[in-house]
Amino acid sequence: MATAAPLLQRSPVPELPRLHQIVLPTPWEIGPVQVYLVEGDPLTLIDTGVARPESRRALEAAFDQLGLGLEEVERVVLTHHHTDHMGQVQALRDAGADLALWVHEDDAEDVELYSMERDERIEVGNELFREYGVPEDLLARQAAHIRAWIEREPPLCAATRVERRLRGGDRVPFKDFELEVIHAPGHTAGHVLLHEPRSGTLLTGDHLMGQAVPFTESYFLASTAAPGDPLGRRPCFRGLPAYLGSLRGLRGRSFRRILPAHGGIIDRPARAIEEAILFYSVRIQRIERALARAAESSGAASAWAVWQALFPKLDPLTQMRTRMMMVIGGLDELEACGRVRVEWGPGGILLHAPIS
Ligand SMILES: [Zn+2]
Repeated sequence: MATAAPLLQRSPVPELPRLHQIVLPTPWEIGPVQVYLVEGDPLTLIDTGVARPESRRALEAAFDQLGLGLEEVERVVLTHHHTDHMGQVQALRDAGADLALWVHEDDAEDVELYSMERDERIEVGNELFREYGVPEDLLARQAAHIRAWIEREPPLCAATRVERRLRGGDRVPFKDFELEVIHAPGHTAGHVLLHEPRSGTLLTGDHLMGQAVPFTESYFLASTAAPGDPLGRRPCFRGLPAYLGSLRGLRGRSFRRILPAHGGIIDRPARAIEEAILFYSVRIQRIERALARAAESSGAASAWAVWQALFPKLDPLTQMRTRMMMVIGGLDELEACGRVRVEWGPGGILLHAPIS
């Protein structure tokens, strides 16, 4: 029988001998998710993997190797609300664990009210995409496509109760050390990093990963116009500017090691931070050039026109959403830097004009 990759990496940080990495399968291209277990006082799991039988078996096998049972988990801290992170919390409770769940306050509602429909944010996303010029027939076709997928797919997650709503600066205490909560919005609004200062260890969830850079979310926060916005736009969570701001906030700090949720362990934190900033800087430049092309004749263009200029060969039915989030995020960042002017166009569509 072939030997499977080890599911459990004991003590990857020598200074934190009771912290272990557990690798759990996911059904996605990104590959497995890495969760972290701190043994004792209280027994704490940081992220939990998706709620699928393979993931449950892998978690049980790792616990077995440590002589522990899933029902012994006393606390779960989530880096953010996505299904490969919160997926098994309710399953642990169903297995008998009397655990307290700690999540940042901005992600707590997504955890408590989780449903696949809600997680896909179809209507919420469509409202945003409509303002950025995506045609109605594509939005309708895409909503039907996602709903069909939701009906086919077994659940990856279950809604569950949150006991503690975290904020930046809070502490996650253990018997002999503590983790500092750093709020790092971008991938989600309530994403947190967990920092152990003595060893210079940073648990980053999806904010920084070993082999990829995360997508960022954008969505309306309220249905009424923001008082300070001259265009009277609704207040929006602008994921990409938030993400870049969170990354820049990590610059110059003396981290020695990053424990991410995907892609092994990162031994050169400063380089990983710069690479993630560079990744998006390059894409923002491409978005700026695509806007210049799309706006050539009329002086301004919608985000959807920028998408089409950037990705002429992609199938919009399956590829529109995450890439539109990137285009919208890039335009947000260009607006924040004073390189783009935004105005309302015909039909309630936002138009972006390059400032040269
Ligand atoms: Zn995520």
